[in-house]
Amino acid sequence: MISKKKTMQMLDVIAAMYPDAECELLHDNPFELTIAVLMSAQCTDAAVNRVTRSLFRKYRTPEDYLAVPVEELMDDIRSIGLYRNKAKNIQALCKILIEQHGGDIPREHSELVKLPGVGRKTANVVVSVAFGVPALAVDTHVERVSKRLGICKWKDSVTQVEETLCSKVPRERWNKTHHQLIFFGRYHCLARNPKCHECPLLADCREGRKRKKVITDAE
Ligand code: SF4
Repeated sequence: MISKKKTMQMLDVIAAMYPDAECELLHDNPFELTIAVLMSAQCTDAAVNRVTRSLFRKYRTPEDYLAVPVEELMDDIRSIGLYRNKAKNIQALCKILIEQHGGDIPREHSELVKLPGVGRKTANVVVSVAFGVPALAVDTHVERVSKRLGICKWKDSVTQVEETLCSKVPRERWNKTHHQLIFFGRYHCLARNPKCHECPLLADCREGRKRKKVITDAE
């Protein structure tokens, strides 16, 4: 695992590549953000946005989601993976919001993770993006990039990746680092074909050097 100092040098390079990185899920309020993040599990943000454009016009409040049969909501989000479970979770979540939180999304991480379909990552995204609370959500991009760069160990769990990142990155940079690592993973250090040949981190990246050696040896 690389040092805290080396980690920050690498994150500074990534920050310079994506200074304006931000949440790409369309939303106008914490409720819409929570629904969008819940739907984004095992699905791209672009696919979620294609659905939420019309979904958020039809359903504006938790009551709206509960006013239709779950089958209708399933139809509305059918193009999203795992749509059946997600529709059920959305209605269960809306019911709890009405019964326990006055129809609002709670601000506390500990309350968010109690909501159906909301795990640690979703709760971290909601508190950081909707409420500005420092949090470092680890999604598939953040995990992959952190491991490839040696910031974390390959065998680390998602929770361990989050703990390591939080211990190496100053708290005031958690929110921005989350988005910048996602952009770096989504547009540069791609899962299947990372752009190692044009990567400013290649010299320090063990994964990139390994991939370059494989290509060079084959030539
Ligand atoms: Fe990703 Fe390749 Fe850059 Fe390493 S060198 S960070 S694997 S793109």
